[in-house]
Amino acid sequence: MDDFIKDEILSLKDEMIQIRRGFHQYPELGMEEKRTSENIARRLGELSLEVNTSIGRAGVVGLLKGKNPGKTVLLRADMDALPIHEKNNVPYRSRNEGIMHACGHDGHMAILLTVAKILTAHHEDFSGRIKFVFQPGEEGLAGARFMIEDGVLKDPQVDAVFALHLMTRFPIGFVALRAGPLMACMDAFTIKIKGKGAHGAMPEEGADAILMSAQVISTLQSLISKEVSPMIPLVVHVGTIHGGNAFNIVAEHVELKGTVRTHDEILRKSMSERIDRIVKGVTTALRGTYKLDYQFGYPPVFNDAAMTGLVKDVGVQVVGAEQVIEIPPVMISDDMAFFLREVSGCYFFVGAGSAEKGFDQPHHNARFDFDEDALVVGAEMMAHVALAYLKNH
Ligand SMILES: [Zn+2]
Ligand SMILES: [Zn+2]
Repeated sequence: MDDFIKDEILSLKDEMIQIRRGFHQYPELGMEEKRTSENIARRLGELSLEVNTSIGRAGVVGLLKGKNPGKTVLLRADMDALPIHEKNNVPYRSRNEGIMHACGHDGHMAILLTVAKILTAHHEDFSGRIKFVFQPGEEGLAGARFMIEDGVLKDPQVDAVFALHLMTRFPIGFVALRAGPLMACMDAFTIKIKGKGAHGAMPEEGADAILMSAQVISTLQSLISKEVSPMIPLVVHVGTIHGGNAFNIVAEHVELKGTVRTHDEILRKSMSERIDRIVKGVTTALRGTYKLDYQFGYPPVFNDAAMTGLVKDVGVQVVGAEQVIEIPPVMISDDMAFFLREVSGCYFFVGAGSAEKGFDQPHHNARFDFDEDALVVGAEMMAHVALAYLKNH
């Protein structure tokens, strides 16, 4: 293992923390990362990297060339924040009211900029190329897909992709990963149910859309318990329900919005028909009609076995074998899936939680924050993963 990396990351730790806090103070929502991407482009430019901006709208790419030609490895960091009003009372608290880096993407950017700086200084020590990719709109807006459409995987053609996500549910010093399916798809549906309005005291003259929606919601759960094998993880979740106008009126309209999560591509493709069948059956039985709008969003995140093995080996050297853990799949989603569908690679977690220091809040929480020591682990991991890939391929 090249010891210079650890030393140099430690010498840049304070700077990395300042970069992270700078991003934290000025968070921007997905696909609107203007200030953020300008900041990144400037920093990459100062390293004399070949910089491309406006890839996938707000995306930024820095290309670093090693001593000799070789494979191209892509390292990705996401840039967007969330519509959350920060409740932390820290000096680097968000100054953009109502917007907050509550998922750790500020840390991902600081890590990747630091890795870019260190590997640029050592570009004579490796062959091949490294694409530093700063991606907009991870939180539901599929920024990765826009970057792919704008050619981020070409010219030069990318041979492997890697990214990390800081995670407070894993303690500081841990790396968590798995080969195969890691995260679920993120598909969405809207169900519009139509009944017939009437006086609440004379229900026989109407058709109650609220009753229909109640039956639809509970019958949808039978997909999980009675229709799909219990060995296949599946979430069918209704998150919003809107309908009805007054206590004494039979509701004519109800709208439900929900999401489907699974790692299984075959099951995934069948879910719109299954949901359609249930909604159709229930509403027809209760004298109503319906409209189902089903949207396929992020695919499942799938990690290549060999690339995951490479990350694991690096993890063993960086944090020690006891602190590299293989985890079961999770039901969250991430548009890193679009990259991993095109090119083999690995998405892994870096522990960022610390109960003693009070960093124990979940992601997307208004009090979310993470242990900045995780930045060092993350930077070490990313730098070594890139070098290990280029060395071995
Ligand atoms: Zn998030
Ligand atoms: Zn995230």
